[in-house]
Amino acid sequence: MEKEPLLMLPGPVPMPERVRFAMSRQAINHRSAEFGAVYADSVRVLKSAFGTANDLFVISGSGTAGMEAAVANFCKDKEIACLVNGKFGERLYKISQRYGKAHEIKSDWGTPLNLAALEERLEAGAQAVTLVHNETSAGIKNPAAEIGKLTRKHDALFIVDGITSIGGDTFEADAWGVDVAIVGSQKCLAAPAGLAAVSVSGRAWEQLTKNPPYYLDLAAYRKSAAGKPMETPYTPAVPLFFALREACLIIEEEGLANRISRHQKMAQAVRAAAQAWGLHLFPKIDAKHEYANTVTAVSYPEGVKDDDVRAVTKKMGIIVAGGQDHLKGKIFRIGTMGAVGAPEILATLAAMQFGLKKAGYKIKDDGVGAAAEVLG
Ligand SMILES: *Cc1c(COP(=O)(O)O)cnc(C)c1O
Repeated sequence: MEKEPLLMLPGPVPMPERVRFAMSRQAINHRSAEFGAVYADSVRVLKSAFGTANDLFVISGSGTAGMEAAVANFCKDKEIACLVNGKFGERLYKISQRYGKAHEIKSDWGTPLNLAALEERLEAGAQAVTLVHNETSAGIKNPAAEIGKLTRKHDALFIVDGITSIGGDTFEADAWGVDVAIVGSQKCLAAPAGLAAVSVSGRAWEQLTKNPPYYLDLAAYRKSAAGKPMETPYTPAVPLFFALREACLIIEEEGLANRISRHQKMAQAVRAAAQAWGLHLFPKIDAKHEYANTVTAVSYPEGVKDDDVRAVTKKMGIIVAGGQDHLKGKIFRIGTMGAVGAPEILATLAAMQFGLKKAGYKIKDDGVGAAAEVLG
């Protein structure tokens, strides 16, 4: 029997049938009321997921295009303080180096950010701060609200990658003082890969660079979005917009609060399994940092080979993620994003439990049972 593998990655994630079907429609004119309505529906729902009343645009490009748009339009030639405790924090730092004077405030991956060093950097005149809210590479959630307060106190711009929190966890752009927030379509929104959404505050608009990039010129996005019908400056990835609209309508139907608590419960179940197995969660959290609620990173015990474990789960048709860069072979990551629930989680954990055993690890306790207690 031919069966699609179950993608339990921190993006891309399985898409509901309605979302997939939406992509197979005939082409339409993107300068039309029909397209305008697709765009407007998406923006309405995304604004609620971002927790913002600010402008919001959808860009044809993956999450990284949204990150680059944020930095290139609003941080050009600025002193930028880049908080880094994982791969995506590093990416924002690398993007910042291309456009401004970037200062890395580095912690080991999955460990708390150095807020004292941030404060020093702000006192020394940093004009913008970049943060990854939910650091997917390490499974740690960073204290966006507190960092927002610090940033605002020093009147700097606050750029936040919410790519794996928005739509799956609490995100309050306006309440936290976020000037530019970014999400990607293939993570908690459960839409296809290839779109990014970016929100922009009034404060950010006041600091718009006079020398923007061409394709990612957000002022051009603003102008096109203000038209009737609502448009994008260049031809958008229309099939992806159809799918995004459907994914957004599903979020609206579920209700954001329900969706967030569902995600929290799923991650809690995975954590319960890891602990029952006798494994350690990878992130080192403190009173301010938390475990991510959309992806769980677990350290492998000594001697257990990542390749062996994930070959077993893969053979069973379940794809989980390994570690990136220097964490390759050291951790595995289970995404709990989008349109998944108890059946997918229990199957994943059963496969993982078997994989760990096959790879020679003596599990301490029944992790699947522990997860079922949380989900039941
Ligand atoms: C996936 C991800 C990105 C990158 O998005 P792409 O869609 O691969 O460009 C950025 N930040 C975080 C936190 C992510 O999880």
